[in-house]
Amino acid sequence: MKRSDLFYIRLSFIISIFICAVKFVAWAITGSLVILSDALESIINVAAAAFAWYSIYLSNKPRDTEHPYGHGKIEFFSIGFEGAMILIAGVGILVQAVQGFIHPQNLKGLTAGLWLTVAGGAANFILGYFLVQTGKKRNSLTLTGNGKHILSDSYSSIGVLVAVVLILLTGYTWIDPLASVFAAAVIIFTGFRLMSKSVKGLMDEVDMKVVDELVDILKLNRKSEWIDVHNMRVQRFGNYYHVDCHVTMPYYYSLEQVHDELTKLDTVLNTNFQKGSIEFFIHTDPCISSSCRHCLLTECPVRKLPFQQQIEWSKENLLPNKKHAFPE
Ligand SMILES: [Zn+2]
Ligand SMILES: [Zn+2]
Ligand SMILES: [Zn+2]
Repeated sequence: MKRSDLFYIRLSFIISIFICAVKFVAWAITGSLVILSDALESIINVAAAAFAWYSIYLSNKPRDTEHPYGHGKIEFFSIGFEGAMILIAGVGILVQAVQGFIHPQNLKGLTAGLWLTVAGGAANFILGYFLVQTGKKRNSLTLTGNGKHILSDSYSSIGVLVAVVLILLTGYTWIDPLASVFAAAVIIFTGFRLMSKSVKGLMDEVDMKVVDELVDILKLNRKSEWIDVHNMRVQRFGNYYHVDCHVTMPYYYSLEQVHDELTKLDTVLNTNFQKGSIEFFIHTDPCISSSCRHCLLTECPVRKLPFQQQIEWSKENLLPNKKHAFPE
């Protein structure tokens, strides 16, 4: 996350406050539960944007002695926090809906409420779409997360509109709590999804898209001196990645030669990887005699076994903690 992303978060924050106010006015006029659910979702947008703001400020701080991996993980907290709030709002709306069935409310001024909801929903759609596009372009999890949430808010506004129109046409007020049950279900689902994304990031679950990209770069730029790469692991910290792996190299190489090769590996990945900068930690393994069968160093002075065949690199042999070998 770059500091300039803060501009977009501020923008989202200010616009969200306006949209939220419009929706609460719509609720005050109508007393409709389904419009209230819409307004509640909006107020979460505002709170979430405020937290995202703080999270960007934190994740931008350079690494220090207390946080040697930087502060990027806070972004996963940010979306987890947002998810938890959405979940709570969803449950709250569900409770309101049940009460609405038991004690039906009188609805008034629905036409005005309808137009205010249209305005709020349209504004949310434009804002959300803009944030998602910008977030993707800048590879910012917080911006994309914020934008997706605002977009989902605008989709649920469509449901709210349908409900209000139906009430206006039929006069059946029970449509109001019924529709808010659906709104609650959608909101709860969104909350769960955001929270699971947050947990995955905090638990360093493998992101196969990133792994695939790294494997492709290594395959394309593979050097004979790197006999194999295994036990590769990737962690994401905001905008930078920590990668560690084992590299098998000729056992007779000097420390200087090994260091040179590792620097080349580092450069190859850092110049070709698009998603952010990579910090490496590489453990080296000496080659063993069975390595000769797939070792590409034809000029090897100590070759013990004849070369048989090259082993293609893939995530199947780069991820496990095992030197590459032919199946027995
Ligand atoms: Zn190893
Ligand atoms: Zn060094
Ligand atoms: Zn060799």
